[in-house]
Amino acid sequence: MVKELVAAQNDFFATQKTKDVGFRKQYLKKLQQEIVAQEDAICDALYADFKKPKFESLATETQLALAELKHAIKNMDAWSRPERVSASWSNFPAKEWIQPEPYGKVLIISPWNYPFMLAISPLIGALAAGNTAIIKPSEFSTHTSKMLAQIINKVFPPEYVTVVEGGVEVATQLLAEKWEYIFFTGSTKVGKIVYKSAAEHLTPVTLELSGKNPCIVDETATIKLAAKRIAWGKLINAGQTCIAPDYILVHKSVKDALVNHIQQHITEFYGQHIEASNDFARIATHKHYEELKAMLEGQQVLFGGDFKDEDQYIAPTLVDEPELDSTIMEGEIFGPILPIISYEDESELDTYISKYPNSLAFYVFSGNKKFQKRLMDHYSFGGGTINDTVVHISNKDLPFGGVGRSGIGGYHGKYTFDLFSHHKAISKRGTWLDVPLRYPPYTIPIGWIKRIKHLF
Ligand code: NAD
Repeated sequence: MVKELVAAQNDFFATQKTKDVGFRKQYLKKLQQEIVAQEDAICDALYADFKKPKFESLATETQLALAELKHAIKNMDAWSRPERVSASWSNFPAKEWIQPEPYGKVLIISPWNYPFMLAISPLIGALAAGNTAIIKPSEFSTHTSKMLAQIINKVFPPEYVTVVEGGVEVATQLLAEKWEYIFFTGSTKVGKIVYKSAAEHLTPVTLELSGKNPCIVDETATIKLAAKRIAWGKLINAGQTCIAPDYILVHKSVKDALVNHIQQHITEFYGQHIEASNDFARIATHKHYEELKAMLEGQQVLFGGDFKDEDQYIAPTLVDEPELDSTIMEGEIFGPILPIISYEDESELDTYISKYPNSLAFYVFSGNKKFQKRLMDHYSFGGGTINDTVVHISNKDLPFGGVGRSGIGGYHGKYTFDLFSHHKAISKRGTWLDVPLRYPPYTIPIGWIKRIKHLF
């Protein structure tokens, strides 16, 4: 089936239909209508997958996708237009421009943690740029993946866009095909597999991967507000957010205050009986749930720490001063568990931050502008926020993505369109004049060439 779909998309792309911006827009509008019509059903599917609260489903999945759609529909004419550049004087007479063109067939492989948005958001840019697409959603978010397939299959013919459901085996079959672009969101481990498969065909990739995101709180931070914003960013989607703060580095003098305020805010958010709250999600996969439980073994728990196997509930949990070589500090936590580590001198921070280089996100809470700048300038990370968490993702004018171990490429808004477009450089020469300087036999003195610099 994979081979037939790929062949059908090749043939469809070759018809040149997707080169027409009107054609693309018409389909994006249909997609928009269908998402609006199915919004409640999408939220129900997300709830069935991991009890994702409806507010979070709307705010972080459907409405984000709709905002991306609206922005693309409004701007895609302008984005698709050739962009004139000043012609180089050595090419006189000439007109020169950059012409975006679609690559062809795009493969989008998405994870389970934001199973709707992380499949739809890249798709919007891929289609706005004129590509065809196959989406392989996660096998662990079955209800949302089915919903996604239902929506896509209603809106698009399969030779244009389709969803292929399945696990590793299906992903492997898809990766064996030749694609013109691969957009992968998931773990760094699988990202490397995807990158290797892409290299076989020299296929360009975007890899949206993971990291262990530090959150630094110094003694000048507004502690109560910092605690609230950290608790929110950590616990939305039950901590299963690639840009959630992973661990806290807090100045010793404000540690107790920070911990107390985080506890208070958690109780304000979810009440005394957190597992009864409709506003707190569950862990989406059994494997991941077991891994999170194992991370707590032998740790000093300051708050929370309880879990419930029946529905994969893990309480918001604060862990006190874990050893650097403990499981919880090995890699990304990806759940509602937050290690709190104190420091006394700024020079101690590097031991932690440099142990997990190129985090996907980076957070600093401080009233000291020089301290903020020092950290932001010193470390390489995907993106970050000063005095809040997660919110840098919400501005479509900011590229979202990783660097080094946390990924390759950034998207959202026009960045997604550009990522899925090849930027063709074109020079159109006039024929009424032909300056003879560049042609052999070479008669101009060498000294002149050095002075002119651009002979052609
Ligand atoms: P994953 O890497 O296990 O799976 C992602 C996708 O890859 C799924 O569709 C899966 O079926 C497929 N896959 C799994 N094994 C494969 C293989 N061997 N060959 C080909 N495809 C394979 O990731 P996950 O567990 O679904 O998602 C969680 C991870 O994703 C976390 O590490 C998180 O940080 C990361 N993530 C990153 C971003 C980002 O924007 N950077 C966003 C969300 C999640």
